[in-house]
Formats: sequence, C-alpha cells, structure tokens
Amino acid sequence: MPTAMEIYKLLPKTNCGECKFPTCLAFAMQLANQKVSLEACPSVSDEAKAQLEESGAPPIRSVTIGSGELAVKMGDETQLFRHDKTFYNPTVLGLIADDSAGLEAMRTRVDDAHSAAFERVGQILRVDSVALRHSSGSEEDYLEAVKAAAGKELPIVLMCEDAALAAKAADACADKKPLLYRATGANFDAMAELAKGRSLPLVVGGVAGLDELVELSERAKKAGLSDVLLEPPIDSSGKMLENMTVIRRAAIKSKFRPLGFPTIAVLGSSTADKMNASLGVMKYASAIMMEEMPRDFVYPLLALRQNIYTDPQVPIQVKPGLYPVGEPTESSPVMFTTNFSLTYFTVRADIEKSKVPAWLLVVDTEGQSVMTAFAAGKMTPESVAKAVDDFKVKEKSNRNEIIIPGMVSRMSGKLNELTDLKVTVGPRESSGLPKMMKSLA
Ligand code: SF4
Repeated sequence: MPTAMEIYKLLPKTNCGECKFPTCLAFAMQLANQKVSLEACPSVSDEAKAQLEESGAPPIRSVTIGSGELAVKMGDETQLFRHDKTFYNPTVLGLIADDSAGLEAMRTRVDDAHSAAFERVGQILRVDSVALRHSSGSEEDYLEAVKAAAGKELPIVLMCEDAALAAKAADACADKKPLLYRATGANFDAMAELAKGRSLPLVVGGVAGLDELVELSERAKKAGLSDVLLEPPIDSSGKMLENMTVIRRAAIKSKFRPLGFPTIAVLGSSTADKMNASLGVMKYASAIMMEEMPRDFVYPLLALRQNIYTDPQVPIQVKPGLYPVGEPTESSPVMFTTNFSLTYFTVRADIEKSKVPAWLLVVDTEGQSVMTAFAAGKMTPESVAKAVDDFKVKEKSNRNEIIIPGMVSRMSGKLNELTDLKVTVGPRESSGLPKMMKSLA
C-alpha cells in the first residue's frame, strides 16, 4: 500500500470536502490506513486511480479456480519466509488425467482425485483439483472426461493447448471456472482471447527462461488479462528452486509486476518429480499438477503442506466443549485437556486405544499445551471449573469425578473446592491413559 504522502500527491488537492474529510491530506491518511475507499473522492483522475490501484495491489495477485466450497485460491502471498509472518494460500495439488489412457481411465482418475482426502488434527486435507490433459486421445473422449469432472466438486485444470478444443472444454465446465493451461509463444493470441472472452484464469509458460516468461506475462497484461499463473522452467530440482525463488523475490522485494502472479509446476511420476513436489510446496509453487499421486506419497505431502501453511503464531485449535469419545454414558469417566489440537488429538487417540468410552472436556487455553498453559496462567482451577459449568459436565456424567493431567496435579485441591467433583490425578503423559482407563472400566 502506498504511503499517505504518495497518495496525497495523486489527489486533486482542492480540499473540496466531498469525501467527508476536510482536506485531501486527511483523506489520504485514511486511505493509507485502508479506512476508506478511493471511490469516496469523486474528483480523482482516471490516471491517478489506475496508479493508486496498481501500487495498492498485493505483490502477488490472488487467483481463484473452481466454484462452491471447494474453490481454491492461489497467490496473495506477502512473505519470502514463513517465520516472518505466515504463508496464506496452500499449494493447490492436482492429479492429471491424460486422454491417452482412454475415457474410462480418465473417469477413474477423476474419482481417485476426489477420494484422496483424510483428516489430520481436525482439518480435512485433500487433493484440490483434477487436471484433464489432452495429448494423443480423441477429442470426443477428452470432452466427455471434462463433462464427467464438471459433474463433481473439485476445481478443473484444462490442460489443452489447442485453443479451439480448449474453448469447447471450457464451455463444457463453464460453471466451474476452470484454469486454462496454457498460453505459449506459439498459441498465445488464441489462448489469451479464449481466457479473456470467458473471464478465465490462464497459465503462461512453455518457456526456456524467465526473460521469456516476463515477456509472456507482459503480453497477457496488454491483452487485458489479470488472472494469470506463471509456469517457469523446472528442468531440475535446482532450476525449479532457483526460478521459483527468483519469481517470489522479484514479486515481493522489488514489486516487479510481471512476476507478481501465482506459479504452477507440472510434474511427472518419477522419484525426482515427487521430490520436486515437496520442494514446490516449501518454495514457492502455488499449484502443482502431477501424473501420479499414490496415497503413500500424497498423504505425507498434504501433511507437509499443512505444516508449511499453518500460521506459526497461531496454534491449530479445537473448539472448547465436552466431546464424547466412543459412546459414553452417564457412568463414563470425564477428563480434561487443552484446546491445542495436537494435545487434543493425542489424548483422544490414547482414550480410544483403551476402548473405554469417556467424556473429554476441552478447556480454552488459547491453543497452548498443558504445561505451557498452566505456566502461563491460561489453564487454572478457575478456568477448568468454568468449563465444567459451561459445558454441563455434571449433567452428562454422574460419576462426580474428573480426571486431570498428571502434570497439573497441583490444581487438584482448588479444583475440588470449586467444582465439588472428586479430582483424580491421571498419568503425566497421555500414553499412560489406556492402562488407567482399563482399571476404571
Ligand atoms: Fe480532496 Fe477528493 Fe476529498 Fe475533495 S473529495 S477533499 S478532492 S480527497
């Protein structure tokens, strides 16, 4: 965002007051703090407006593909290093279905991409898109596969460099806002016209170096396209890392607009490709399309992505509440833990291991683990007692007892006083819970 002085220089400086501010400078200061919109000034020139919009735009443009709940957003990143703040939009992973394998194989691929999902620390991690590639198969089969994918939820990437066929494919999945792949030096005008006419995002690539990529990006801008993805050359892991880093650096540090777009990498199925996929998730691919995504590869990749794109300053949290584990009844034991996701899921898994149904009370500790929360005063006898009341523990269990983590045994006396519950000190580590739970059953 430009500074107040930079904005002020572009305003009419008539102090007319129509924006509801007494002076142009006052308006500029509010605009710099994003408290008002430029629209509030009716006198600003079109030229100044364009200049301000350009300088106020994020360093990497945000591009969305797909529609509905599973639409995915790429770009809009502001950092070179995750620890400086956070990365925002996780790398979009897509499975390629190539028409050389025939229509049935493509349909199977589409189904496979949709079923590649699992839950980790309370979040659903999934393959986000399906990329339909036209190579040596028939046009009819390709369009049929596009229709099959259009009937499902995942966003679609149309990998077809024949603009006439890509146009038919785009029409067959018009509601899905597909990503068009790709405009090269050879088909640029036709693909750019297609993308512009249908307001679809377009990949520019197929280049030998970044200079050529910059040229294509500038041509896309001249053609009136703003939703663009860049495909740099990735002949080796080293080249991929270098090019992705140069693009990110140029966009964020130098605000170099032609490279201020999300990036995409299309990978095969070799071990090197799998390594490059991990590399791309870390630095700095906005989308990765792959020929093969076996579960034993893609699930760890999704977990890696979750780790990279989790805000390091905000622990993943579970909603506070009273959770049933198994099918607890009124006589089932009650225990509590914190709302730090990793702690919650570890404790929950250990209770499940015991096969003894229980009630697990999750206390709000702002996402801190047991010892950290206790030491920081975020988990006190008072806050646990409040959770017991808020989530009506006594209505769910008539055992009149609560099991507390061994590490916070010091709160037993006060907790007993505040809740009238018998306080039983559990193991220091939740791995001791199965043994203890079996003795309760
Ligand atoms: Fe200045 Fe525009 Fe506000 Fe008038 S409306 S005071 S010209 S910023």
